[in-house]
Amino acid sequence: MTGYRWDSNTRKYYFDIVVEDIYQPLSLIYGFIPEDIYVNGNIIAHSVDFNYSKFSSVKIDSSWYDKKTKTLNLEFYSKTNPYNQPVYITTVKGSANALPIYYMTFAFNLGITFLMSLYGFSLYYNKHSENYLIWFSIYTGALTLWSLTSLILDWNLDWNFIRLLVSHAYGWCALLDVVICCKMFSIKLPGRFDWLLSRNGVITVLLVWATFETLMPKTFRDYYFLFFFSIAALVYACAKNRKGAWMLLVGQTISLGMRLVIAISPALMTQTSYLLRVMRYSKLFNLPFAICCLLLINRLFAEKFSESEALAVQLEQTNQILDKKVAERTQALKEQQKQRNIFMMNIFHDLRTPLFVLNGCTEKIKAQPQLLMQELPIMKERLYFVQHLVDDLFLMAKLEDKQVILETERVPLGELLGRVVKACRVASEEKNIIMLYKIDKDCVTWGDEYRIEQAFQNLIINAIYYTKPGGTVRVELKTCDNTALISIHDTGVGISPEDQDKIFDRYYRVSGTEKHHSTGLGLSISQGIINQHQGNIKVESYFGKGTVFTVQLPIIQ
Ligand code: ADP
Repeated sequence: MTGYRWDSNTRKYYFDIVVEDIYQPLSLIYGFIPEDIYVNGNIIAHSVDFNYSKFSSVKIDSSWYDKKTKTLNLEFYSKTNPYNQPVYITTVKGSANALPIYYMTFAFNLGITFLMSLYGFSLYYNKHSENYLIWFSIYTGALTLWSLTSLILDWNLDWNFIRLLVSHAYGWCALLDVVICCKMFSIKLPGRFDWLLSRNGVITVLLVWATFETLMPKTFRDYYFLFFFSIAALVYACAKNRKGAWMLLVGQTISLGMRLVIAISPALMTQTSYLLRVMRYSKLFNLPFAICCLLLINRLFAEKFSESEALAVQLEQTNQILDKKVAERTQALKEQQKQRNIFMMNIFHDLRTPLFVLNGCTEKIKAQPQLLMQELPIMKERLYFVQHLVDDLFLMAKLEDKQVILETERVPLGELLGRVVKACRVASEEKNIIMLYKIDKDCVTWGDEYRIEQAFQNLIINAIYYTKPGGTVRVELKTCDNTALISIHDTGVGISPEDQDKIFDRYYRVSGTEKHHSTGLGLSISQGIINQHQGNIKVESYFGKGTVFTVQLPIIQ
C-alpha cells in the first residue's frame, strides 16, 4: 500500500495498492462499512447495515489494476478517521485462514453465552430463592441474542419483529450489565429509584430504551457510558465489602478495557489488529465479565453447600444428643413406672397386712367374745397404722400435685423447733437417747407452721428411731445471710452412700432398718413441704456412725 488520502470535504477515503505482480491473488476483508467500496468507479463491496458486526471478503481481480503502474485505487466514504475502518488486505491464502478464525470465535462466544444462560436458568429453576440467578440467565441470554445479531440479519427474514429485537440487543446488554451488578450484590438504589431494579422496573427501562434507540441516529449507538454505571456499582459493592465484588470489578474492567482499545484507536491514529476486531465482532469482550459472574455464582453456591454440610453435621450431632436424651428419658420413665409399680405393691401390701390382722382379730373375738379386751389394743394399733398410712399417702399425693394450700404466716423457727423437740422427747427418753437442742438466734420464716412442724417432726422421729439406745440426737438452728440452717445430727445406723440418693423417693425404705410404723413416705413428705417453702434438705451420713439432715429455709427480717 503506497498511501491513503482522506478528503474531509467529500469525506471520502482513498488508498492505492501497488503490487509487483498483478496476478498475485489478494483479498480484501471488510467489516461493517457505511458506504460501498469502489475500484475505478466500480462497486466491489457493498455497504452493510451498522448492526452487521461480521466480516466478509472479496477477491481482488487482476483486471482492477492499472497494468502500467500496477496500482489499484480503492475509494470509499468514511465518516470518521480512516484508521477506524475495518478494512484489511491480505493474500487469498491469508483470507482463507482469517475468516474461519472469525467464525470460530463467533461460534465459541455464542455457545459459551448460551450455555451460561442455560446454566443460570437451571440453577434458578432448582433454587428459586437465589434471585440473582434469573438475572444472570437473562443477562447471558441477552448476550447470546446480541451475538446472534449478524447471523439473524443475514438470514433475510421477513420477521421484522425479530430484526427489531436483535437490533436492540446491544443496548439491552449494556443496561442489563448494570442490573446484574446491582443484583449480584443486592445493591439498592436510593428512594423510589429502587423500583427501577424490580422486575417491572427493568422491563420498563428496557422498553423505554428500545423506543428511544429507534429514534436515535444509528451512528450514535456506542453506549460506553452505561458500562461506567456498572463499574460504579461494582466499586460501591467493593467499598461495602460485598463478597466477590473485586472479582467482578476485575472482569468488568478487562471487558471495558478491551472495548476501549478499539474505541480510542482512531483518536490515537493507530490501526486495530484484525484479531482484536474479530474479538469485538464476535462479542468476545463480554466474556471476561460474564465468566467472572459465573465464577462468583459457583463460589457462592460452594459456600452455601459447605454451610449446609456443616449444618448437616451439626444436625446429626444434635440428633445423636436428642436420641441419647430420649433413650435416657425413656429409661427414666421405665424406671419411674417400675418404681410406681413397686410403690403400689408396697401400699397394697401395707394395707393388706393390718386388714389381715384385723380380720384375724374379729374372727377370734367372734369365736371367743371374752378375748375382746385382749385383742382391742392390737386392733387399735393396726387401725392407727392404716390411718397414718392413708394420711401420709393423701398428703404425699397432694404435695406432688402442688394441691396443698399452705397457710402463710410468720413462723418463728426457734419456737417451732423447741416444740417439736419437746414432743419427741418422750420417744427419745423411752429409747434412752439423749436429745440436745441448740439455738444460736431465733429467726422467722414465712410459711405454714403446721406443715413445717410436720416436716421437722419426721426428721427428728427418724433420727430417734434409727439411733441405738445410749446414742445422741442433736438439733441445731443457725442463720447464715438470709437463710436459716437447721441440722438434725444423730449417732445412729447411718445410710450407705448408694441409699443416700434414694431415701427421698416415695416409699423407699432401706432394707433391714425398718422402724415400727414405717411407711417410707416420711422423708418425701418433709422434702415436699420444705421445697414448697423455697427451701431444701441435704443429707450427710457415715454408715454405722450417724447422719446429719440439714434443712435450709429462707428467713424474713
Ligand atoms: P420411713 O417411714 O421408713 O422412715 P422415710 O421416708 O422417713 O421412711 O425414710 C426413708 C428411709 O431412710 C428409711 O427407711 C431409713 O432407712 C432411712 N433413714 C431416714 N432417716 C434416717 C436416719 N436418721 N438414720 C438412718 N437412716 C435413716
